[in-house]
Amino acid sequence: MLPFKLIYSGAYYLPIGQHVFPAEKYKRIHDQLLAEGIAEADDFLEPQPATDQDILLVHKPEYVHKLKTGTLTPREELEMEIPYSPELVEAFWLAAGGSILAARHALTDGVGISIGGGFHHAFPDHGEGFCVIHDVAVAIRRLQRDDKIRTAMTVDCDVHQGNGTAAIFAGTRTASALLPSAGASTLDSSTLNSALPGKIRGAHAGDVFTISLHQHNNYPMWKPPSSIDVDLPDGIGDDDYLAWLDNALSSGLRQFEPDLLCYVAGADPYREDQLGGLSLTIEGLKRRDELVFHVARTRNIPVMVTYAGGYAEKVEDTVTIHCNTVIAAKEIFVVTK
Ligand SMILES: [Zn+2]
Repeated sequence: MLPFKLIYSGAYYLPIGQHVFPAEKYKRIHDQLLAEGIAEADDFLEPQPATDQDILLVHKPEYVHKLKTGTLTPREELEMEIPYSPELVEAFWLAAGGSILAARHALTDGVGISIGGGFHHAFPDHGEGFCVIHDVAVAIRRLQRDDKIRTAMTVDCDVHQGNGTAAIFAGTRTASALLPSAGASTLDSSTLNSALPGKIRGAHAGDVFTISLHQHNNYPMWKPPSSIDVDLPDGIGDDDYLAWLDNALSSGLRQFEPDLLCYVAGADPYREDQLGGLSLTIEGLKRRDELVFHVARTRNIPVMVTYAGGYAEKVEDTVTIHCNTVIAAKEIFVVTK
């Protein structure tokens, strides 16, 4: 048995029909984890949907009302880029419940993984980019309300910038500014800057510190400032990516001490992704997961994981990348525990 829980429900499936978002990926990940003996049936916990009260900790009442009554405007539906249905709304309430449960288990077990969620493009008053409800933000606000945590850090490694996350937690943020060069990182940032046109920028003054590592030249067009944004150039590969991630984590954790780390483990930095333009390998993505887990483990910061995007030409690649996240957690949290 795993020393942590996997949060999953068959009802994570998003009823969106044929779509670039492979809604069947959640079930396929679940099945592959069992088939390959990575997890056992008892490792999985079934979440309950979030309550409306939970959702309202992040989202505007008008928006929640529209979702529940099917009264979004055509323009609002279009912006979500997935077809509205009452069943879709249920799936997002469940994803938020799954993230709450994963976060709770992270606090007791060191790590908790939801085989779903990571809908980082949802804003308080609207959905976009396949995201209706910001499940991670709901989980953070719920745990804060329950006095389980005071602070949190989001580490968003989906290839697309976490615009919803940045907007939701921007309340007390100061204007974005260039960060001073990193000192304690394993990587000399002056070398990085001369080797790559990527940029690291940020500023922070809130209770939730947001890090987003993403392809600059990709959706969303408008990128509201995170605490740290790493704007990566097109086509960067494993080693450069991992160096930037290491640098951003070191920088963030020098500035901020989170009670919970929320890792958004998107599979779309993969080099064969249809909606991404970076060049990471499947192995490189696993090293990315290991890096995040290693940093959290050595600093005793609980990690909750959500899966976000993944649009590989072959769905099995997306499934493998997500399964590897569980393997990485197993390696880091079993061996060193
Ligand atoms: Zn994405």
